[in-house]
Amino acid sequence: MPMLIKNGRVIDPASGVDCVADVLIEDGRIAAVAPDLSSPNAEVLDATGLIVAPGFIDMHVHLREPGFEHAENIESGSRAAAAGGFTSICCMPNTKPVNDSATVTSYIVERARRKAVVNVFPIGAITKGSAGEELAAIGAMKGAGAVAISDDGLPVMNARVMRRALEFARSYDLPVIQHCEDLNLSAGGDMHEGAASVRWGLRGIPAAAEDVMVARDLVLAQLTGARYHVAHISTRNAAAMVDYARRQGLPVTCEATPHHFALSDDQMAPYDSNYKMKPPLRSACDRSAVVEAIASGAITAIATDHAPHPGSEKMQEFERCPFGIIGLETALALALEVLVHPGKITLHRMVELFTTGPESVMRLGRGTLAVGAPGDVTIFSTELSWTYDVNQSHSRSRNTPFHGRTFRGGPVATVVNGECVWRRE
Ligand SMILES: [Zn+2]
Repeated sequence: MPMLIKNGRVIDPASGVDCVADVLIEDGRIAAVAPDLSSPNAEVLDATGLIVAPGFIDMHVHLREPGFEHAENIESGSRAAAAGGFTSICCMPNTKPVNDSATVTSYIVERARRKAVVNVFPIGAITKGSAGEELAAIGAMKGAGAVAISDDGLPVMNARVMRRALEFARSYDLPVIQHCEDLNLSAGGDMHEGAASVRWGLRGIPAAAEDVMVARDLVLAQLTGARYHVAHISTRNAAAMVDYARRQGLPVTCEATPHHFALSDDQMAPYDSNYKMKPPLRSACDRSAVVEAIASGAITAIATDHAPHPGSEKMQEFERCPFGIIGLETALALALEVLVHPGKITLHRMVELFTTGPESVMRLGRGTLAVGAPGDVTIFSTELSWTYDVNQSHSRSRNTPFHGRTFRGGPVATVVNGECVWRRE
């Protein structure tokens, strides 16, 4: 059945559209964007007073399948994505087994085809087992559907291996996504190294652990000419270096997570593992640098780094807990709260950060409402008041610092390939 989304404010940065209009989807694709459309037998979604945007893309999530289905699976993760307004998600390869071969990539593609309610795009590993030594089967993974390579969760520590990876990725025209962390500098750390870590007697991860890796990689990116992307950037220096490289014309990009632009280490609840992630929540100075870099255009994508862990693992002593928090369902609301409502960026720019920004790195053929594009649409409110109750989450995990927070604005309905897959009750 066709779908007609009526009377919303359509914001499509890719086509330069920002006006009140209707969106008609037929056969799973955008058929028209114009005022006063009609279609006799279409399902009608009334978007009066709401924003109608191209389906949001999250280029950095962990779906935990195969291997850690007690934390999340492709179906539950995709439902959390839909409830967060995301229509496409890219899943990191740190599963069990690691997605370092066409076999695992194909498995994920096939499971997603049968179980996922949003589009799922696998990211292959850079090295076998993400062990950082031997390159994975990059060409074969691309053939099976991988859209990028990354060892996320771990960095590629060996510069020679990283150079080879960049060269291979360049020949396959794939972006390389690096989790920037010098493991020798971060070893043993549980939170950002600063006044708060000293006060609470916890071992610190210095900002330099991220900065030195970004610096090294930018040199290698220049050497190889490969498309290079910094995952979850969190420090002032790293953002400045990526911005410098970008201005030199290198194909270098970076993303920021909602938790890194919304929170700093001094806002952590002491010893609460819902605030434990990598990179850690940084200083207030770093956090404001991330916001500034988003506003200036140095950071071109918002990505959640949705990292589910079950309560049994997150309810240990702080030092023993795994790193990471879930984020799909709160990302849009946090972007509105921290970036748009205070006037740091416009609504138009926020939509770019969720659509054209990640699309330009991942090249999924999505992120626009142009006629003929896949019928992926995110409908959201900038005013709706709602409270996040993680116990109602679609994720299998509950690890978030945002439980109980009341937001102004959030997702209202999510349309994937012309079908409404989630709607706020
Ligand atoms: Zn990471």
